[in-house]
Amino acid sequence: ARKAALSGVTGPGATSDGHKVPLLANIGGLSDVQAAVEAGAEGVGLFRTEFLFLDDSERAPSEEKQFEAYRSVLEAFPEGRVVVRVLDAGADKPLAFLTPADEPNPALGVRGLRSLLDHPDVLRTQLTALARAVEGLPVYLEVMAPMVADRADAKAFADACRAAGLHAKFGAMVEIPSAALRARSILQEVEFLSLGTNDLAQYTFAADRQVGAVARWQDPWQPALLDLVALSAEGAKAEGKSCGVCGEAASDPLLACVLTGLGVTSLSMGSASIPYVRATLAKHTLAQCERAASAARAADSAEGARAAAQAVLSGE
Ligand code: PEP
Ligand code: MG
Repeated sequence: ARKAALSGVTGPGATSDGHKVPLLANIGGLSDVQAAVEAGAEGVGLFRTEFLFLDDSERAPSEEKQFEAYRSVLEAFPEGRVVVRVLDAGADKPLAFLTPADEPNPALGVRGLRSLLDHPDVLRTQLTALARAVEGLPVYLEVMAPMVADRADAKAFADACRAAGLHAKFGAMVEIPSAALRARSILQEVEFLSLGTNDLAQYTFAADRQVGAVARWQDPWQPALLDLVALSAEGAKAEGKSCGVCGEAASDPLLACVLTGLGVTSLSMGSASIPYVRATLAKHTLAQCERAASAARAADSAEGARAAAQAVLSGE
């Protein structure tokens, strides 16, 4: 049945009335690139660079090693778009040389951009390797920081990118509710937003994403999460900038329509989901997606939101 749902839809992501929503791949390195290309990804929306750092718990990989890893990924998407996320260490991805050992609540501690601002040498090396890797390539590079909390974070990151001589667009991930609430302020410093809905759910519901007992709060259909997505997308639109989603939420075809209706401008997901999201999006107009989004936000639970969106999208 899932195969039948694909019904030969190919090409760039778009609604049935031609509203474009680029469909991008989440990758962890070169080994994921082939699947992304085969799925027809229009580029990479989230290159998780942490994997490069896991080989050695004592120190960061050399600039040369990073340069080679980034170059090989960037070469695979000529004319395409690649969004690289700088190192997101801490919490569920601790690194001995960056992450404090004695934090009582690692998810609320020094992680993501915070670790990098505490270790500017590590950030500088990564950005320098990226600046070298993109030289002479036709790829469209964007670089973003994880766990941006406020405008000062966004400025610190943009300053570091400029200091490294990076020719790219700089962006901020929206993973903390404060960033969604103050999206327009953050966009005074950076060019785009990308919603990390996994962490955004964790911090919105005060529910550790690694604790099974509170897993129901990770459901990206939670209306409170949809409200924060809407706020971010509206803020970006008001600033004339883009706001994508790169968390798990983007891989649910029905939710992808709702996110589009909320004003999200691109969707990045595991490559296996791309054909399903493309096929579902192609069946609905932007106006239908917007109605589904309003219906979902009017619900009081994740289950209610899903049912309401389903009713709107299947009734047409
Ligand atoms: C997220 O938090 O939604 C995200 C995309 O980042 P990660 O899952 O790598 O934390
Ligand atoms: Mg995250």
